[in-house]
Amino acid sequence: MLDIHQFSYGNDNYGVLLHCRNSGETAMVDAGDAEAGEQALARTGWSLSQIWITHHHGDHTAGLIALKAAHNAQVIGPATGKSQVTGLDQQVGDGEHFTFASREVRVLTTPGHTLDMTNFYLPSEKLVFTGDTLFAMGCGRLFEGDAPMMWASLNKLMALPDDTTIYCSHEYTAANATFALSVDPKNQMLVDRAQQVTALRAAGEPTVPTIMSLERATNPFLRANDPGIRSHLNMPDDTDAAVFAEIRRRKDNF
Ligand code: ZN
Ligand code: FE
Repeated sequence: MLDIHQFSYGNDNYGVLLHCRNSGETAMVDAGDAEAGEQALARTGWSLSQIWITHHHGDHTAGLIALKAAHNAQVIGPATGKSQVTGLDQQVGDGEHFTFASREVRVLTTPGHTLDMTNFYLPSEKLVFTGDTLFAMGCGRLFEGDAPMMWASLNKLMALPDDTTIYCSHEYTAANATFALSVDPKNQMLVDRAQQVTALRAAGEPTVPTIMSLERATNPFLRANDPGIRSHLNMPDDTDAAVFAEIRRRKDNF
């Protein structure tokens, strides 16, 4: 078992520290804020060995150079993209893997939000870091890719087991829940989850991580084949990809 410490920074970002007690190794997922990263390391007492970068946006990379220099950490991140991340020691592509604390970390590229989006899956821990691709009840905005690309990326994540724990990079869940209810209003699990999210946020608690089974049941962006959503959108015979694109379009204008 790895120890996990999630910390917030910026408006609504989450960073994560992963730590192995046996080897003493620690990985940080994303490096958007060096000061917040340092505080998390100080709080836990863990010393940083690796940094995993999901994509090139500043809220995921702005602290990379400082954290790398301060801790001599190995930085692993996207192999391709139109804006290359500066400071990577190792570039990884889809289907490749690397090792952290004697565990396999599988790389899943999930383009759509950006072309370089890179997700990290640890099968032994049933743990995935989805960056700005899959959020709790949401998915990333399409800045560089298009809807078919994002749909293919989400399908890659949906192939992971139901009991996979999902860490995403933003606390967008309350707004996502409000939108989800607008396209899937009769989904009782969604109605219940939206209430839980409201209570958690009112108490200042995070709604992340989430779990794949819960996303399958309540995240409209994973439910393009759901009869209720299809009938609500009046798209009974369209492809899943077309239904997904319509849900994404509605969210952009919500
Ligand atoms: Zn982003
Ligand atoms: Fe982001």
